[in-house]
Amino acid sequence: MPDQTPPIRWQPDRTPSAPPWPVPPLLTAMRRGLMGRCPACGQTHCFNGYLSVVPACVACGAPLGKFRADDAPPYFTIFIVGHIIVGLMLWVDGAYKPDLWVQAAIWLPVSLVMTFLFLRPVKGATLGLMLKLGMAKSDDE
Ligand SMILES: [Zn+2]
Repeated sequence: MPDQTPPIRWQPDRTPSAPPWPVPPLLTAMRRGLMGRCPACGQTHCFNGYLSVVPACVACGAPLGKFRADDAPPYFTIFIVGHIIVGLMLWVDGAYKPDLWVQAAIWLPVSLVMTFLFLRPVKGATLGLMLKLGMAKSDDE
């Protein structure tokens, strides 16, 4: 005997509403953030300091300050810079066999400079990723 029960259809409690600011495709949002522009519209800057994010975009009103990246940009920066530095260290060590103090004298400052150069663009790209995923901090948190 075939099953006569109707299929259960799940309905959400509410339909998600689109945010009032533009939400571009993921790569566009991340590229705009990488360039230090508002990930939503690309019209204005998303930083008002080295790493401090503007509370809201003056052009499109996207609440960029509510996208709290926290430790993600430093984590991604360490991941990227570490892979570049370790690869270069291994190549230089294999090709030139410098003393350990020479390696330290080269790679410690290079790591520091690269980290400061990468941190801001990586934070901007993370902001774009969070904007696309709708990871804004709500008002009641
Ligand atoms: Zn904007």
